[in-house]
Amino acid sequence: MLEDRLKEELIQIEKMGSLRQFRTISYLNDQFTINGKPLINLASNDYLGLGAREDLVEMFFKQELDQKLPTSAFGSTSSRLLTGNFEVMDQLEDLLKNTYRREAALVFNSGYHMNVGIISAIADKNTLVIADKLVHASMIDGLRLTNTRFERFRHNDIDGLERIVKRNIDNYDELIIMVESVYSMDGDVADLRKLVNLKRRYSDKIILYVDEAHAAGVFGENGLGLSESLGVIQEIDILCATFGKAMAGMGGYIVTSQTIKDYLINRSRSLIFSTALPPIIYQWNKFIFQQIQSFNEERNALHMKAAKIRQLAKDRGFDMPSSSQIIPFIFGDNELALQASDYLNKEGYFCPAVRPPTVPQGTARLRLSLTASTDIANLEVAIDALSKFKRQ
Ligand code: PMP
Repeated sequence: MLEDRLKEELIQIEKMGSLRQFRTISYLNDQFTINGKPLINLASNDYLGLGAREDLVEMFFKQELDQKLPTSAFGSTSSRLLTGNFEVMDQLEDLLKNTYRREAALVFNSGYHMNVGIISAIADKNTLVIADKLVHASMIDGLRLTNTRFERFRHNDIDGLERIVKRNIDNYDELIIMVESVYSMDGDVADLRKLVNLKRRYSDKIILYVDEAHAAGVFGENGLGLSESLGVIQEIDILCATFGKAMAGMGGYIVTSQTIKDYLINRSRSLIFSTALPPIIYQWNKFIFQQIQSFNEERNALHMKAAKIRQLAKDRGFDMPSSSQIIPFIFGDNELALQASDYLNKEGYFCPAVRPPTVPQGTARLRLSLTASTDIANLEVAIDALSKFKRQ
């Protein structure tokens, strides 16, 4: 019976120390609580600290909405292809394409919808997709919806990638290379310049697909991502990101060619067959994105704090793949990672253990993810204590 099978499986998941459960969060007057307990949040994606900024919310309501909510503000009540495409949606896409200086931009309901909807639409039987071993589940799920062939290359191993390209370039109409710019579990970065170089050295059959979910807002002079800081925005064919992290909003976006946008509007099922995000969310995304250049202070604070914590971790003997605000403390065993997480919890921090299957077997970890406003004053002491959970 279904219920019995599911119960049995849940027991097994619990035995492996991998049972997932919701926690109840509240964020009032700058105080973050989990299940009612005040804690410092070390697991946030609100990298610039904008989600917790009451002044921004106030300004949004005053300036953008002029105290009056537009009709249908909280429900577009239809797919964008039917009667759900409000003016603000076109405005946001114009803003994105003009800021990135690209032909076109398209917003999806989330970063997950975006990745699932793009790759499943554009790849066909004459496409080979070559994805980094650590790309996000949403890209893999998109691939699962196609009959397209795909290969994985060892994480960040551009030479390995090139061998796959060489072997296959003559056998397919196009090769789509999928990477993230900042990786969500190790906080390390892809060498986008090398990837662009590889694309140039082979042919225009190569399409570069880069997900900047953890870099948009955080890197680049104008906060446009790692591709901005490395000067390669124009070389990336499909550049995508999310409003759900540093921009404290909701939705995924892609900047690309007009043809790819037009094709996605016609063929991307996650875009076509789902009610559009509420107009008020688009309005907020637009409000934040209009100011994204101006958050330099927040970006600098974030990078300084991250550099400090990474150095502390290295000094305490942790391997440190990260060069970003996502900082892993890898313990290996699920149990050790859980103990370290409990310890931090007792010390007043929230930092859950990340375990397989979210990360590879034997790499259970704490994944600190800092924001511009994280109070790191006392973190040094806590990090010192973390080394005692390392396998000796
Ligand atoms: N891409 C990457 C690399 C991500 O890490 C995530 C979220 N964890 C997503 C896409 C999904 O974005 P969203 O949360 O907006 O659905």
